[in-house]
Amino acid sequence: MTATDTPDRAAPDASSTHLVASPFLAQHLLLQPGRTVGVRIPGIRYEELRAASHEGDPLPAWLADAARQAWGTELPDGPVGDFVLVRERSPYGYAKASWEINLGCDYDCEFCYLGEKRFEGLDWAGKQQLLRMMRDAGVLWLQITGGEALIDREFGAAYEYAHQLGMMVQVSSNGSSLRKPPIRGLFARRRPYRLTLSVYGATAGTYDKVTRNRGAFDRFIRGLDAAHQDRLPVRLNVIVSDDNAHELDAMVALCARYGFPRQVFTNMSPTIDGEANPLATQAEGHIKARSVFTGCNAGRTFFHVNPHGIASVCKVGRDPSVNLVTEGVAALTRLGAIAESLQLRTGGCSGCTKVGTCRTCRPLAKLYQEAGDRRELYCQHGGYGS
Ligand code: SF4
Ligand code: SF4
Repeated sequence: MTATDTPDRAAPDASSTHLVASPFLAQHLLLQPGRTVGVRIPGIRYEELRAASHEGDPLPAWLADAARQAWGTELPDGPVGDFVLVRERSPYGYAKASWEINLGCDYDCEFCYLGEKRFEGLDWAGKQQLLRMMRDAGVLWLQITGGEALIDREFGAAYEYAHQLGMMVQVSSNGSSLRKPPIRGLFARRRPYRLTLSVYGATAGTYDKVTRNRGAFDRFIRGLDAAHQDRLPVRLNVIVSDDNAHELDAMVALCARYGFPRQVFTNMSPTIDGEANPLATQAEGHIKARSVFTGCNAGRTFFHVNPHGIASVCKVGRDPSVNLVTEGVAALTRLGAIAESLQLRTGGCSGCTKVGTCRTCRPLAKLYQEAGDRRELYCQHGGYGS
């Protein structure tokens, strides 16, 4: 058995004595929700746990040892089924998914890549059905995002339900509701394995201007304080635009003060509908060369679902798509072919002499092309293929 990740600093919470045993692509993992460390187990051990949970057999000694070693957790005596949720093998073979629970947001950032952010999505029965389909598809790591995910009326219920189904849940948020007791209670009861928050400024003046929401910075800082106090596994994404680029160093310093890991994003993207508006907020002098695209598993080991249950290969390549609500989980089998066809489409870079060696993700290039073809934002060739 091998640990698959670096140890995390989190204190175990009340729900974390429960483990999940699951197939993961060609492997088998033992995980504790809310913790980043996982334990790889041989297939035979997974089968042993699966059989034991069906038969009501007691915890094997090796499992108690593994839990002690990986998480410092003492598992009490009792049947396997009381402490371990054993996920079934999925014929679909997915491992990860992202889900926009609702595109509605309490902020109105000019650079938002979502374009029109409508408050709409599946009803509660639809959300439950969708989450069960994701479970059946094999999804072990789920990102719940928005819009602003935490303000969806059923976010808490959906988040808990995903945990109950044995998924490791990551939440992406602007942090506006993080300070609120129901959210703090929820995350204390069931820790996310990651909480990704965007940083839009280092002062109230800038942050509130970028989000076009008075008081937003104050709410963000109070949320950060709460997350720090609750020792949540926060990662910060610093978003640089022309309105806040002058505070880049201060934003990085803010992240450092809290000790949360950070990433800085400086390249603006068109909206998901190919609208160019966000590109107007690009901070000049901050465009970073994109890393060379060498292939990805979009549509094969992961997929994306929008608020209406429409699944696509990823957040960028949204078309063609499949409708999980009307077609069911089996529709996911079409995503592999869709991904292949999307990467094969090379049209659009008119006049480029280097199409043969193009190393840009095609769905991404297509989005930029629809938005007016600012090649310096996505082309991998220094001279933009001319
Ligand atoms: S907080 Fe995020 S989702 Fe909301 S408007 Fe800003 S960029 Fe868009
Ligand atoms: S944008 Fe391109 S590289 Fe990224 S996941 Fe989608 S298809 Fe893959």
